Amino acid sequence: METRILSRSRGWLDLAKQYIEEGDVVAFHTETVYGLGANAFSDAAVLRIFELKGRPQDNPLIVHVHSEYDISPLIDGEPPYAAALRKAFLPGPLTMVYPSTGKVSKYVSCGLNTLAIRVPSSPTAQEFLRAVDLPIAAPSANLSKHVSPVTARHVYEDFNGKIPLILDGGACTGGIESTVLDCTGEIPQILREGLVTREMISSVAGDCGIYRAQKGERPKSPGMAYKHYSPRCKTAFFGADALDAAISLYEAAERKGETPCFLCASEQVSRLGGRMALDLGGTGEVMARRLYDLLRKGEKTATLLIGIEPQETGGVMAGVRNRMHRAFGVEHGTEEN
Ligand code: AMP
Ligand code: MG
Repeated sequence: METRILSRSRGWLDLAKQYIEEGDVVAFHTETVYGLGANAFSDAAVLRIFELKGRPQDNPLIVHVHSEYDISPLIDGEPPYAAALRKAFLPGPLTMVYPSTGKVSKYVSCGLNTLAIRVPSSPTAQEFLRAVDLPIAAPSANLSKHVSPVTARHVYEDFNGKIPLILDGGACTGGIESTVLDCTGEIPQILREGLVTREMISSVAGDCGIYRAQKGERPKSPGMAYKHYSPRCKTAFFGADALDAAISLYEAAERKGETPCFLCASEQVSRLGGRMALDLGGTGEVMARRLYDLLRKGEKTATLLIGIEPQETGGVMAGVRNRMHRAFGVEHGTEEN
């Protein structure tokens, strides 16, 4: 199969609509990362997403809709704070989890009685969703466990010959996946940190919790249980106060004939004495935008990628730290993959 990458051009959405209606899968730009979309009402189309990605069958998908799409048949009511949050942050990088009415394919929620819904703000995504006028189930358009894609080229690298079409809307400005927010309880609870921060949600909803899975419990957001976002080279990770140890490892790797490279904030790059480094930038927003592109660059140029925890905290940094920890396998210690 030929994989076409189309930017805005005559007929591009007609083609996308045709593929979706035929039960095929189409990749599309969003403001967070590229998505791999299929008709959420079709069992076969949704299963195709899992097959293409190699995604575990218990990791549910987010359904994407355009701004005017009526989600009320899909969800079993919403608390008042959810309506306020929708008004404040949608369209945008916030996924809201509701009680489900079970109208979409059962494979979307993987056995959970909830449904995750997102209204992306990217013009490409909005136009695509309007053209098909269906709820589109879409995880990030990367092979399972690989780094999420923030350009059409990244999607192509993972799915060339496997999907018919990539709707190219340029580089993603957000850069990390949406915030996932459980809206089924008394107060909203963050299941995955992202660009809409806890502070932003609290300021509208009055309160906002952060979910941490207890040992032995099936996590509320199963995707968070998986190692994720991993570059395909050896990795190591150091705290912000362990720069000397990171440099020792770099030098030892060089002596062994490896190609080591750091990935860290601008301020840390300046303390690495000109050694090879990928510069994440200085603010949470910039680090979010650059992280996945640099992880993909790193795996192509280095044999050992050495991540250093940024000093910065607060706001979007919670999401950036979470993705860095998971990319570098911090919960599992330093590991090769
Ligand atoms: P991805 O689209 O690849 O970024 O992954 C989607 C994320 O949303 C995963 O972490 C899922 O666990 C989470 N998610 C999707 N549906 C639900 C749901 N119904 N309840 C909780 N989390 C969900
Ligand atoms: Mg993903």
